[in-house]
Amino acid sequence: MNRHAIVIGAGLAGSSAAERLAARGWTIDLIDAADSPGRGASGNLAGVLRPLPSLDDNRLARLTRAGFEHACRHFAALTASGQALRWAPTGVLHLARDDRHAATQQLVVERQQPAADALRFVDREPASRLAGWPVASGGWWFPGGGWVDPASLCRANLAQHATAIRTHYATEVAQIDRPGDLWRACDAAGALIAEAPVLVVANASGARRFAVTAHLPLRAARGQVSHLGAAAASAPAIVVCRLGYVTPAIDGVRCVGATFRIDDDETALRDTDHAENLAKLDFILPGYGSALAASKLDGRVGFRPLSPDRLPMIGAVGDASAIDADAPARPLAEMPRVPGLYVINGFGARGIVWSALAGELLACQIAGEPLPLVDELVSAVDPGRFLLRGRSRRVRTGAEPSKNDAAAKAPAPTSRGQRD
Ligand SMILES: Cc1cc2nc3c(=O)[nH]c(=O)nc-3n(C[C@H](O)[C@H](O)[C@H](O)COP(=O)(O)OP(=O)(O)OC[C@H]3O[C@@H](n4cnc5c(N)ncnc54)[C@H](O)[C@@H]3O)c2cc1C
Repeated sequence: MNRHAIVIGAGLAGSSAAERLAARGWTIDLIDAADSPGRGASGNLAGVLRPLPSLDDNRLARLTRAGFEHACRHFAALTASGQALRWAPTGVLHLARDDRHAATQQLVVERQQPAADALRFVDREPASRLAGWPVASGGWWFPGGGWVDPASLCRANLAQHATAIRTHYATEVAQIDRPGDLWRACDAAGALIAEAPVLVVANASGARRFAVTAHLPLRAARGQVSHLGAAAASAPAIVVCRLGYVTPAIDGVRCVGATFRIDDDETALRDTDHAENLAKLDFILPGYGSALAASKLDGRVGFRPLSPDRLPMIGAVGDASAIDADAPARPLAEMPRVPGLYVINGFGARGIVWSALAGELLACQIAGEPLPLVDELVSAVDPGRFLLRGRSRRVRTGAEPSKNDAAAKAPAPTSRGQRD
């Protein structure tokens, strides 16, 4: 096989896929509309790296635990190779939002018996000592969690295989097609940017503009982070979360976030969102930001690519045009696929945690290697699931199929479980 792929998007999704394929000897043409990697959702100063357990250890929790463990190994490997990845495993304190939540957090630890260096429950007093500030509740303490500069992760992924990954920045893909055996990515003037037997769509909610991926029910959730000036060595020196997060000081800046609004395309910073972040900060560390004014804050806006079921989309793209709306639903294994076309997307608020594992899973699928996840989780993230669902809904209701059925009828994702 000609081991050559086009990857559209140089954020966490695209850079992770490119890195994993290049590690297997593939040549990559990586295309991004921005002038450098990590300029979209993956461009915040810092985000949170930690798992998110649940009482029933559901698919989201298992995927996030696997993603966290994989990410820690990947980050350590990049660092050991001399890449300038900026991250710090400071530990993450995830405070309970109320007594009921605290009881659930304790029950999770009792039932799941995690290793003490992975997760433990701490009461309010030790939690306050960890935070360096009096807090209102106890919570989960993830000693191995921390913060990551996501753009530095994108850059490190690409620098790891700089000769195998040809980059095309400031280049927007307007159209993709496969007239013969090769996929072609073309610009708005119809000029060819690259062609290869495999094409990976990793351009967040921009995937909806291509006819072959237009059925994917991707939405964008605007998120604004606020930046606070912070003295070096000031508390907290760890990441603290409670329906929001606050990071340690990173080059004199502490990140507080984040807002979450679906289908809100305002790119400019808003004072009302800064005020919302200051309210989150007060919930996390009471009184900490009382001297701060929303109108004086700086920050950053990004757009998280969301799927309606809060799970990512990783794998071969289903062929929407080959689906027979009148036939009964069939298993994912029988889903017709578009030859050579793959997607890595829908990371929502978990791109930092999921991207390394997602890149590895996708590369294994493309290269035909054993997969790094159990079948149940591979199916849970299979992008073909939306075509099955759309079709079974049509079969149940007798509704006429529409071209964008899955996208048109999927419920809007909510912020539940999507917090950063
Ligand atoms: C405010 C906020 C806070 C967050 N906090 C956390 C956190 O604490 N922990 C965590 O794990 N995750 C967090 N996330 C989520 C994480 O950042 C995202 O899941 C991740 O960045 C998505 O990566 P991506 O590569 O899919 O998208 P992007 O980074 O947006 O990359 C898509 C790329 O595609 C390019 N592109 C689009 N269309 C085209 C085209 N037609 N041609 C060429 N290029 C194109 C864009 O320029 C962009 O570079 C947060 C996100 C936000 C917005």
